[in-house]
Amino acid sequence: MVNIAEIPHGLISAAYLVAALLFIFSLAGLSKQETSETGNLYGMIGMAIALIATIADERVSNVFVIFVAMAIGSFIGLRLAKKVEMTGMPELVAILHSFVGLAAVLVGFNSYFEMGHSFQLSITDTQKMAINIHLVEVFLGVFIGSVTFTGSIVAFAKLRGLINSAALMLPHRHKLNLAAGIVSFILMINFVQSGGSDTALYLMTFIAFVFGWHLVASIGGADMPVVVSMLNSYSGWAAAAAGFMLNNDLLIITGALVGSSGAILSYIMCKAMNRSFISVIAGGFGTEVVINDDTDYGDHLEINAESVADLLRGAKSVIITPGYGMAVAQAQYPVYEMTQALKDKGIDVRFAIHPVAGRLPGHMNVLLAEAKVPYDIVLSMDEINDDFPETDVVLVIGANDTVNPSAAEDPTSPIAGMPVLEVWNAREVIVFKRSMNPGYAGVQNPLFFKDNTQMLFGDAKESVERIFKAL
Ligand code: NDP
Repeated sequence: MVNIAEIPHGLISAAYLVAALLFIFSLAGLSKQETSETGNLYGMIGMAIALIATIADERVSNVFVIFVAMAIGSFIGLRLAKKVEMTGMPELVAILHSFVGLAAVLVGFNSYFEMGHSFQLSITDTQKMAINIHLVEVFLGVFIGSVTFTGSIVAFAKLRGLINSAALMLPHRHKLNLAAGIVSFILMINFVQSGGSDTALYLMTFIAFVFGWHLVASIGGADMPVVVSMLNSYSGWAAAAAGFMLNNDLLIITGALVGSSGAILSYIMCKAMNRSFISVIAGGFGTEVVINDDTDYGDHLEINAESVADLLRGAKSVIITPGYGMAVAQAQYPVYEMTQALKDKGIDVRFAIHPVAGRLPGHMNVLLAEAKVPYDIVLSMDEINDDFPETDVVLVIGANDTVNPSAAEDPTSPIAGMPVLEVWNAREVIVFKRSMNPGYAGVQNPLFFKDNTQMLFGDAKESVERIFKAL
């Protein structure tokens, strides 16, 4: 016999399962440019199913409050998403992670206060075990949530330029981080053994807030991509912890998906930047080096748009390496027109994409896709780096740190060891930028002073338009 009262919950579990599968398909789709639109669609359908199932859950007592919260949240979310430029996306992502962290903290406190009354009752061993497990869930959820909350706020402030993006170098900073971890662990034991202690929970929350703030503050600006992706992972684990506290399977699954995919992405990025994954998690990696600004790099050469057009006309192979400046100038559309004009003249044109070009992973791919540049001429760093010696002209459009030879040649450079696009091996290099100012990492670029490099000063969009006209 089917128990009628169980049907709604069974249906909801089934809906959650379908939503979880759609999220997995979505992640699979998003891993390739060609399937990313379908991936997004799967994610949207999965999220719609999850929302409907959650609202329809018989345990939800006040649907009205949920609708009001959703209306306010959707209004703010839509406004923010419409307004944000691609270049401001990492900031938006960072601040959204902070909300996930804060939500996990609030869910943890709520869950703790709700169970408070049961402590006085006489309970069996099994019940005691269940309470202990729940207390650990609450403690870990609040800890991860607090670290994510303050860490994400610092990442947001650094990316926005509200605070200095340089690494904060407190004395004994690694020991401070270790002490925060150890004290929090001791507090957790105390919290569980005492059947829940307000003081232990408050004290740990405070320590975790400071720990999260310090962890991200001690990482330098150039390493922010890994930090944003790490915080993405933390926010996933915070959501999974909230799922355990709320007994919500879907939240556990999606939290684990976000947590593990964020961790995998961080690992891949660490490998791409030649950084140690463990030291990223510990905070403050690659910050021991000193910026040396006194070096005399010699003089740089300048060129105008018309001469660049002449140079391009005589070339057989051209590689374009876009960077953050192309995004700022919104130069991707004229870049595409120029590419077409060159291809029509029988010149081989390809794009070389550094894994952290721009301000978020995949930033350049999205911009080029927006301008309808065909996927098959957009190559990753590993695919194209060996081809520079056989290339006639490289156009560095608004890129700087990602083409900096000191990463490969100067062990004292703050970006030492980071694999870069080796554009200087080409016959001619043209750098599009507005001044001799350094890039995001704040380090000078010796590429600008090489004999085969010429600077084309001005806004990247205007420069490309002038070249296109001259062609
Ligand atoms: P950079 O940020 O190193 O340099 C961008 C260059 O573009 C600047 O030198 C600037 O020079 C120039 N520029 C800015 N506006 C214009 C414009 N309108 N026209 C022409 N040039 C312009 O760029 P990269 O893409 O090479 O490197 C990305 C950096 O950002 C790396 O350090 C990376 O670690 C970091 N980062 C990456 C993230 C990611 O996930 N991709 C996230 C956060 C940070 P000028 O002012 O003289 O014009």
